[in-house]
Amino acid sequence: MSSVLRKDAFDLPEGLIYLDGNSLGPLPRRAADQLSAVVQDEWGKLLIKGWNAAGWMEQPSRVGDTVGRLIGAPQGSVVIGDTLSIKVFQAVASAIKLIPERRVILSDSNNFPSDLYMVEGLINLLGQGYQLKTVPTDALFDAIDETVAVVMLTQVDYRTGRMLDIAETTARAHAAGAVMVWDLAHSAGALPVDIAASGAEFAIGCTYKYLNAGPGAPAFIYVRPDLAERVEPALSGWLGHRAPFEFAESYQPGQGIERMRVGTPPVLQMAVLEAALEVWEGIDMSALRAASIALQEQFIAEIESRVPALCLASPRDPAQRGSQVSFAFEHGYAAMQALIHADVIGDFRAPDIMRFGFTPLYLDADDVHEAVNRIAQVMDEKRYMQPEFQVRNRVT
Ligand SMILES: *Cc1c(COP(=O)(O)O)cnc(C)c1O
Repeated sequence: MSSVLRKDAFDLPEGLIYLDGNSLGPLPRRAADQLSAVVQDEWGKLLIKGWNAAGWMEQPSRVGDTVGRLIGAPQGSVVIGDTLSIKVFQAVASAIKLIPERRVILSDSNNFPSDLYMVEGLINLLGQGYQLKTVPTDALFDAIDETVAVVMLTQVDYRTGRMLDIAETTARAHAAGAVMVWDLAHSAGALPVDIAASGAEFAIGCTYKYLNAGPGAPAFIYVRPDLAERVEPALSGWLGHRAPFEFAESYQPGQGIERMRVGTPPVLQMAVLEAALEVWEGIDMSALRAASIALQEQFIAEIESRVPALCLASPRDPAQRGSQVSFAFEHGYAAMQALIHADVIGDFRAPDIMRFGFTPLYLDADDVHEAVNRIAQVMDEKRYMQPEFQVRNRVT
């Protein structure tokens, strides 16, 4: 299991235990060098020639293919760009067009708010009687019926880590004739995903969480290959045009997945992503998953025996959990602040969730044990009562 440990590949501060790679992955050492090389040698020296000479224009699909390998997507079916919220809009806008006679977009009421907000905005814009219907996770299967055009779900719940089965859920959506859109924000780089085998039409996700591409890193979108020439892009920007440099007056969708590009790619941030993806070479995703589960199980067992005030808010069955563990605690915000002060970084999600991500690329059993030592200390000493930990920061 130690075969997935790549501690040396990351630049983490000494003594810090980082349990927040599910929110923002740490800095891969290669990324800093690569970024500076691209800034100085490409941007600095090539200037605008870099678009051709340094392959900047191909970067979104080249890097998309590398991300694709981590989610079971074939070559040429993934492209990088924009942010995940934008990709949600893009995927759902194209998905509803595949099934024009239906009007319901179904999602989980626990879905990440931005996904729901983007669909609300899309529906308001369309103004054709579309409806966003949200139900609790347990009611999802029953709610998939012949009125549903699109089922839009995030595989791993950001608060609890609850994980859905992609193949089973997609089959359910397809049985009702609906189009499936998966958000893989907490899946890509966290667990094995075989998006092609599931038959899902669309998948989207971000690269700054488990893929470690840094704050503001761009998102990805997958379109099932047999649909790539059929989908209609709603965000019809020039770089998704069939021939951007013909500067034609009206839009013609580009070839295949290229049509999901919008505007100028974030070259520098994508250079970081490309370097960050090198860490994944030779990583077996099922070994990574096994290592993640081992760390999570150890964490849960140690917390439950030493810190009874914390109440498990994630599914107990590891097969139903992504790569994070959440505990509910009344003073969760202040306790997390106190913990961060003790150099164990997790995060807080309202109303009372303390969330800990497990990324076996740079965490081992000793780290988990030491994290629990520090959590137990914070809790035993009730450090969460200290006034300095009560102040809410803008980002929690
Ligand atoms: C992290 C996350 C987002 C964030 O979207 P951005 O546009 O990258 O800010 C959206 N949806 C889900 C499910 C997420 O986990």
